[in-house]
Amino acid sequence: MEYPKAIVDLIDSFKKLPSIGAKSAERLAMYVYSNLDMTDIEEFSTALINVKKNLHKCKVCGNLCEDEECEICSSKKRDHNTIMVVENIKDLYVIEKLNVFNGVYHVLDGAINFQKGIGVEDLTINELIVRAKNPNVKEVIIATNATLEGETTARYVKTLLEGCDCKVTRIAHGLPVGGDINYADEVTVLKALEGRRDY
Ligand SMILES: [Zn+2]
Repeated sequence: MEYPKAIVDLIDSFKKLPSIGAKSAERLAMYVYSNLDMTDIEEFSTALINVKKNLHKCKVCGNLCEDEECEICSSKKRDHNTIMVVENIKDLYVIEKLNVFNGVYHVLDGAINFQKGIGVEDLTINELIVRAKNPNVKEVIIATNATLEGETTARYVKTLLEGCDCKVTRIAHGLPVGGDINYADEVTVLKALEGRRDY
């Protein structure tokens, strides 16, 4: 005998999440039924809907926001002439948590990966070049991951930025080869940022 349809539907929904297999999905669905009250469930479902309905990407940097521009891009306290290039939004928040960078960001939406067919046109590299060509921009810090894809992307961005007046730097020390900003501890990321060099 199968679970009632409502449970089966919930299991199927949980299975859509990363690293949730059939067994975990089943456990979560039963947990929801047994342990959460109606208020919890309503909050949960509203949060799920809002994350998609209210959020979109900042038209300048690609960060998540509820308005046209994110808080960072619209802040007068930030240095808009220093742009840190990261692969994805999660990396931006890793760096923000350190409280050491006062510039602005550019989220590439991934990295060049020929095997997976991810090329320049799938990323926001062209938008970055347009931003970097603004004569006020002094430095572009390439903070893509220390992986093959991150390095390939960094080199490509560097090549496209040749001819721009701005300085191009790459975060370096601390991040191990194959390292992903997301999994590095804060001290490592901080050192990588401090140790950036001309690129
Ligand atoms: Zn922004």
